[in-house]
Amino acid sequence: MKIYINGKFYDRENAKVSVFDHGLLYGDGVFEGIRSYNRKVFKLSEHIDRLFESAQSIMLKVPLNKEQLIKAVTQTLKINKLDNAYIRLVVTRGEGDLGLDPRKCTKGSTVIIIADKIALYPEKLYREGLAIVTVPTVRNLPEALNPQIKSLNYLNNILAKIEAANCGSDEAIMLDSLGYVAECTGDNIFVVKNGHLYTPPQCMGTLRGITRDSILEIARKSRIPVHEHVITRHEVYISDECFLTGTAAEIIPVVKVDGRIIGGGKPGRLTLSLIKKFKTLTGREGTRY
Ligand SMILES: *Cc1c(COP(=O)(O)O)cnc(C)c1O
Repeated sequence: MKIYINGKFYDRENAKVSVFDHGLLYGDGVFEGIRSYNRKVFKLSEHIDRLFESAQSIMLKVPLNKEQLIKAVTQTLKINKLDNAYIRLVVTRGEGDLGLDPRKCTKGSTVIIIADKIALYPEKLYREGLAIVTVPTVRNLPEALNPQIKSLNYLNNILAKIEAANCGSDEAIMLDSLGYVAECTGDNIFVVKNGHLYTPPQCMGTLRGITRDSILEIARKSRIPVHEHVITRHEVYISDECFLTGTAAEIIPVVKVDGRIIGGGKPGRLTLSLIKKFKTLTGREGTRY
């Protein structure tokens, strides 16, 4: 495996960054998770745009422009001879001193690209669906650390993941500070009720996922009524179908929430049809390499 760090490729054993990098010391940095299918990177420019927006928001200078970054990603895929991959693109604040002041990181940011295979959940769960729980840790407040920033500071989500695991559950529903359903630890959430598709709006504790946007686009084209609307736990419990979306997880059905069986305990018809249409889309669209 060859890993890209600041313009050079390193073997896995030698792919290292400084212990003074503020990405390590403070989680000071931003990232993207991207997938490629059949030598095509899905929604690459959308991911690069979001990375630059995250960086702009935290005043992090990305040392490459968008075009150069796109090239670095496709080059990493080519060097690793990967036709289907999960790509982790990381930009950290870089090497500084032990204080938190980013102005001391004078060497500039560190750009890391890792391309590998990843299966987030076992195949069985994609067929049978997940059992998930609501957890006590609420999603970061937008006025504290806006969830639109895909930041390396991921403890908020990790705490929720730990709480889910403590309950013997694979995934967690995180609520926002008002108690509405925000999202899961690294995935957006959708419910289906009477043929309508609902997902929380991006304004509170919800990251605007690129997979989420793809599902909304597919649904609109298929003339399924979609609503970006606040959702309560009650509405999840009484839904006909529920599923999660994210680049790593792709689309995974949910069949149990806080002990309540959803849709008779089987992945729903609309969910399965959206999974199929999403597969067609990822097979068709993307940046070739
Ligand atoms: C990345 C991420 C998602 C999913 O976004 P995609 O663009 O679909 O991969 C959802 N929630 C959180 C917290 C994330 O970090």
